[in-house]
Amino acid sequence: MVVGDIATGTEVLVIGGGPGGYVAAIRAGQLELDVTLVEMDAYGGTCLNTGCIPSKALVHATEIAHDAKHAEEMGVHADPAVDMAGMIGWKDGVVDQLTGGVEKLCKANGVNLIEGRAEFVDDSTARVVHEGEGQGSESIEFEHAILATGSRPIQLPGFEFDGERILSSADALDLTTVPDSLLVVGGGYIGMELSTVFAKLGTDVTVVEMLDDILPGYGDDITRVVRNRAEELGIEFNFGEAAQGWEETGSDAFVTTETEDGEVGEYTAETVLVAVGRQPVTETANVEAVGLEPNDDGTLDTDEEARTAVENVFAVGDVAGEPMLAHKAYKEGHVAAEVIAGEPAALDYQAVPAAVFTDPEIGTVGMDEAEAEAAGFDPVVGEMPMRASGRALTLGESDGFVRIIADAETEFVLGARIVGPEASELIAEVGLAIELGAQLEDVAATIHTHPTLSEAVAEAAANARGEATHTLNR
Ligand code: FAD
Ligand code: NAD
Repeated sequence: MVVGDIATGTEVLVIGGGPGGYVAAIRAGQLELDVTLVEMDAYGGTCLNTGCIPSKALVHATEIAHDAKHAEEMGVHADPAVDMAGMIGWKDGVVDQLTGGVEKLCKANGVNLIEGRAEFVDDSTARVVHEGEGQGSESIEFEHAILATGSRPIQLPGFEFDGERILSSADALDLTTVPDSLLVVGGGYIGMELSTVFAKLGTDVTVVEMLDDILPGYGDDITRVVRNRAEELGIEFNFGEAAQGWEETGSDAFVTTETEDGEVGEYTAETVLVAVGRQPVTETANVEAVGLEPNDDGTLDTDEEARTAVENVFAVGDVAGEPMLAHKAYKEGHVAAEVIAGEPAALDYQAVPAAVFTDPEIGTVGMDEAEAEAAGFDPVVGEMPMRASGRALTLGESDGFVRIIADAETEFVLGARIVGPEASELIAEVGLAIELGAQLEDVAATIHTHPTLSEAVAEAAANARGEATHTLNR
């Protein structure tokens, strides 16, 4: 039976139920707006289903297995067996718990949930298409729309994802057997996090990166620490090579690469992970019908209220451009909902943290020294090496450092670069310092629990003032 075209109305239509969309919908519900969220695939979007959460689950589980196997120095002798299907089952359980939670939270905040694909008809009407024979569609009249359609992996020409030989990150996070060998194309966030996962599982991992280093945008002093550790794990790097094509050689993929000078590289691997960036999704929602024209890279321009060029249409998360991070999507979703509710909200990107869950982790927030100089500050820098942290030594993880950057004259904290254990957690303290307008002394004089890694943040701040007591002052 074909379900007829039912027309309903809503004050706020949210398209996409990932971190940008579900946070926008929940916040709009809290502000007593009548809100409808449409999701075409799975609540929680990329982040919960195929991104942040599953990848971090595997980062942790493989770390446990690897650390247990390599703890002889601590007097621990173990050889854990990895049941890959069991590990993936546990990861799926974590994902289910969180995605179920998103659905419950939306409902508890009065969000009307619809499963289907929403596409604009004009600037006040959308059609929700329910895929599947006889499922029909419905029309929704809206006053405001928040587009949160996210992103998808860039498909490298000649490397179509097939889920077996050529893997996207989503495929790689669902492998129930450990490949003997893996060629990773792209040494960015995904390439480095998943190379680490598979190297710790015993896979022979090779990375091919077209630039001359891993993790573009992070300084050499940071990437060196991660690269050295990755090499200790057995990961092989080939820089300055772009993947060109591949062919099947029976049980393997034969991949060719090319340098800028035309030199050809050849690699053979059981599987190939292609992680060369992500591109915004707009075509699912027919944005042209509302009068929006995506940029060449697929992003939509927005202002400090997350509003697009169309007055009543907002765009949040990956579709609104870099940095494509879940917490940036949360913030934009929050702001869009508040602006629609008439609250005085605006985006401020001065303290957006970023973390890479490699071994060791990287955490950054605010400006580095060069950015501070370019912004007209006279920066002062303080540093604490992890090898001087008692806690880092007790963890057996003493590579890396905490570096804090402040304005020399006012001592206002401007940013931090951390590489080392739990850098993803440690960076939060500096983010808060920036948001609160804290000075170096505030951070240095705060009593931190001993022995913790967080002491290194205080010590770096003290170091910038020439008052460090556990390291030599610069
Ligand atoms: P998405 O999460 O992509 O959600 C968009 C949703 O919209 C999807 O559910 C999609 O089905 C739906 N949709 C699209 N079109 C329509 C339509 N027309 N109608 C209805 N629904 C539609 N970020 C971090 O901050 N930390 C991390 O550790 C991290 N790790 C990652 C690891 C991996 C492997 C990947 C791939 C990404 C990772 N990210 C991480 C990035 C993070 O996942 C994204 O930045 C985040 O999910 C963006 O949220 P979003 O709401 O903009 O989009
Ligand atoms: P990325 O932009 O981080 O890295 C892509 C890499 O691929 C770059 O280093 C680029 O030079 C390289 N590359 C491009 N074309 C190539 C080619 N033909 N051959 C060889 N190398 C090539 O992208 P990603 O790793 O796919 O991740 C996508 C996005 O997802 C990230 O930018 C980030 O926003 C998000 N993410 C975040 C986290 C986190 O926050 N911890 C983790 C994973 C993903």
